[in-house]
Amino acid sequence: MDFSESPKVRTVRGIVREFMEKEVYPFEPALRHQGFKELLPTLKEKREKARQTGLWAAHLPEEYGGAGLSLLEFACMSEELGKSPIGHYLFNVQAPDVGNMEVLMEHGTPGQKERFLLPLVRGEIRSCFTMTEPEFAGSNPVWMGTTAIKDGGDWVLRGHKWFASSADGAAFAICMAVTNPDAVDAYRRASMIIVPTDTPGFTLVGNASVMGGRGGDWASHGEVSYQDARVPLANLLGQEGAGFVIAQERLGPGRIHHCMRWIGVCERAFDLLCRHAATRELAPGKPLGLKQMVQQWIAESRAEIHAARLMVLHAAWRIETEGAPAAREEISLIKFTVARTMQRVLDRAIQALGALGMTDDTPLAYWYAHERAARIYDGADEVHIEAVARRILGAYGMHSR
Ligand SMILES: Cc1cc2nc3c(=O)[nH]c(=O)nc-3n(C[C@H](O)[C@H](O)[C@H](O)COP(=O)(O)OP(=O)(O)OC[C@H]3O[C@@H](n4cnc5c(N)ncnc54)[C@H](O)[C@@H]3O)c2cc1C
Repeated sequence: MDFSESPKVRTVRGIVREFMEKEVYPFEPALRHQGFKELLPTLKEKREKARQTGLWAAHLPEEYGGAGLSLLEFACMSEELGKSPIGHYLFNVQAPDVGNMEVLMEHGTPGQKERFLLPLVRGEIRSCFTMTEPEFAGSNPVWMGTTAIKDGGDWVLRGHKWFASSADGAAFAICMAVTNPDAVDAYRRASMIIVPTDTPGFTLVGNASVMGGRGGDWASHGEVSYQDARVPLANLLGQEGAGFVIAQERLGPGRIHHCMRWIGVCERAFDLLCRHAATRELAPGKPLGLKQMVQQWIAESRAEIHAARLMVLHAAWRIETEGAPAAREEISLIKFTVARTMQRVLDRAIQALGALGMTDDTPLAYWYAHERAARIYDGADEVHIEAVARRILGAYGMHSR
């Protein structure tokens, strides 16, 4: 195996690192103390500067306005951007837009691309993805209450969703709704339908308050109601009944993006930990880093981050060479492993910084609260662990109904 980074990846990392140091890290205190809406003009300026680096929407092919990076190349960029909570947004590669762009590119009609994809790529609008419902367990994705029924030339949607990230301010939602309730295969019952958020019957009920946050900041999670929301039949995204197949396609690369972002979080937390350990003196001439317990946090974190990165890059390589279905086990493995690694590294960094770690003077406290969700969204840890274990035991002849 070749573990070297290509010259292109080194260039991409270099451009992003320079941008982060100049434009992003100095801006973080403002971000922590002011709201997203107040900061929008400055964010707009910074996004313009990010666009000028040539790495805007870098995961998309150039013909769509991206930089044409491969999954592996973009994974490395995602790590660099993940070192700040705002990195992905500035380069227009933030969830859920990044996944919605990929789905629209792969499955959108020319009309859908013109109306929804291109403005999204240009950064003129934002979008959201509405699948999870408060009344149904999201871990069982085929079980949902939202329906879309054909009526004349329209789909009529009815249902209740929540945790639609960035629904607040989104121009359109991709809605997962049951369109074929009688399909024998439960995975063929739902479809994806594009719903502009100004459609009568679409209501953003509010933002969930998450981990003490008011919910209205730049990482919002919306509750959405569809009450006879009517959109043209032409808003069907992909084939009728193909909603889950498309969702799986979306989630494979999406998990690579997330995991590399989390490794970026780990690297920044690790850097803060090490800086503090080397310079904070417990007594004159006695830095914290002399303590074996702190040395253990440092060495274990280094080993865990390194292992996590290799696992993710391997999964990305497997998706690129053999396709996402072949890499299902690797994708599940990284999803729960990296989320847990991030949680442990953040915890050690906060512990090492003491009271400073609890303040909002570093991004650690923000991440500690907000990234707890990493073990829940895109499939809870237990769902992935079960999938991996069942697959392994299946190879040993264990079968269940
Ligand atoms: C920050 C955040 C952002 C999100 N963004 C979006 C979004 O943009 N769009 C969207 O549609 N959804 C989004 N979600 C929802 C997310 O996808 C769901 O929360 C997730 O699928 C789990 O579903 P649930 O919350 O209904 O939990 P449930 O399915 O009710 O599960 C509850 C718990 O049960 C346990 N469990 C589940 N299955 C098993 C099992 N097989 N074995 C053992 N234990 C199990 C797990 O510990 C799980 O956490 C987001 C969630 C969060 C937290």
